Amino acid sequence: MNELSAARTDAQAPAWRHLPALQQPAYPDEAALADVVADLRRRPPLVFAGEVDSLRNLIAQASTGDAFVLMGGDCAESFTHNTADNIRLKVQTILQMAAVLTYGASTPVVKIGRMAGQYAKPRSSDTETRGEVTLPAFRGDSVNGHEFTPEARIPDPTRMLDAYLRSGTTLNLIRAFTMGGYADLREVHSWNRGFTANPAYKRFESFAEELDRAMRFMEAAGVDFEALRQVDFYAAHEALLLEYEDAMIREDSRSGRLYDTSAHMLWVGERTREADGAHVAILAGVHNPVGVKVGPTTSPDDLSRLMDRLNPEGLPGRLSLITRMGADRIREALPPLVEAVRVDGRPVTWIADPMHGNTITSDNGYKTRRFETILDEIRGFFEVHRTLGTAPGGIHVELTGDDVTEVLGGGEHIDEAGLAEHYETLVDPRLNHQQSLEVAFEIAEMLKG
Ligand code: PEP
Ligand code: MN
Repeated sequence: MNELSAARTDAQAPAWRHLPALQQPAYPDEAALADVVADLRRRPPLVFAGEVDSLRNLIAQASTGDAFVLMGGDCAESFTHNTADNIRLKVQTILQMAAVLTYGASTPVVKIGRMAGQYAKPRSSDTETRGEVTLPAFRGDSVNGHEFTPEARIPDPTRMLDAYLRSGTTLNLIRAFTMGGYADLREVHSWNRGFTANPAYKRFESFAEELDRAMRFMEAAGVDFEALRQVDFYAAHEALLLEYEDAMIREDSRSGRLYDTSAHMLWVGERTREADGAHVAILAGVHNPVGVKVGPTTSPDDLSRLMDRLNPEGLPGRLSLITRMGADRIREALPPLVEAVRVDGRPVTWIADPMHGNTITSDNGYKTRRFETILDEIRGFFEVHRTLGTAPGGIHVELTGDDVTEVLGGGEHIDEAGLAEHYETLVDPRLNHQQSLEVAFEIAEMLKG
């Protein structure tokens, strides 16, 4: 395995420090922050340059329709939910979705967990008010506590050390599951048969039978299922906390290139994606595949400046644009952007985030999304790319493997009253296990055309 041990020298001092940095915690104790950063800099990388390069190559294939990217996981991971069961069920859900999508797309599916590092959140307001009390907003478990008390909401840099360790143990378990036989295609297929056996998902029955036949064909043709017991599974998160991401940058001794070793892929969010801002600058300096969330106010000019900053040479797989327009806007907002990128000529991988443009508040006060609206945005994404002859490269969804009730609708018909049953998310509403599979089956039908 290649070496990523050499820490960055001062000569490579980060340009981002002089740029506007949005959404950063106001740490009360600068010295404590400096200690944490120094500690993180000495720690081993969480991912390796060779893996990161493999992922970049796979994402490049998705830019031309020769692979399909599936990114999924919590809006915000939490320290308390960082358990073996929670990780296993998320991995299982993503593997099940991937098997369905592989069949639908007839291409490899690139599996990326929004996991093992998704611990920091951008917020629309710096404060949160409940009744008479106003406190600093919760910014993710790597920054402060979710509990609504003044003490919990003080940013604590040592939380980054906890986030690092939890990311490492999560990755360790993911590697064990995906390399140790848990990802066996026959097993994944039988889980999916369990899903379609439920009368609520009867409409997928014929699809499931086709999949069954494909499995039997593979078996009869002598496919080596033993070789299909292992899969590559990657990790990604939003590069929000600049001090954390910077402290995780290491130089690859083979190539001399810098990698952010906190995850294979990093993205910048809709709120921090200024081409001249600190977040884009930090990602401009590393060799990982990167994503940018792109909302409905993005202009073609914004994209061109982002490409200049993040992928000046047009390296395939380097830049993904993760569109989150809203179901009612995607059909108008996306085409001019896709056209502009096509004229530019540098490759990007288009990924649909059908979650963040479709958040609503239910009458009983829950932050939620409608299953149908989520599907509609995905449909719009496919329609636009089909019309323009470009490749719909993948999807990015907020999901959990658990049986939560956070998104309205789906085959289980979760209604507003039902949201109260198992509403557990710390930030945004997630598809539950069944809803995630439903989305995968629906997309597989769209991919088959
Ligand atoms: C998110 O992915 O949780 C998020 C905050 O998205 P966006 O930056 O697109 O709003
Ligand atoms: Mn979110």
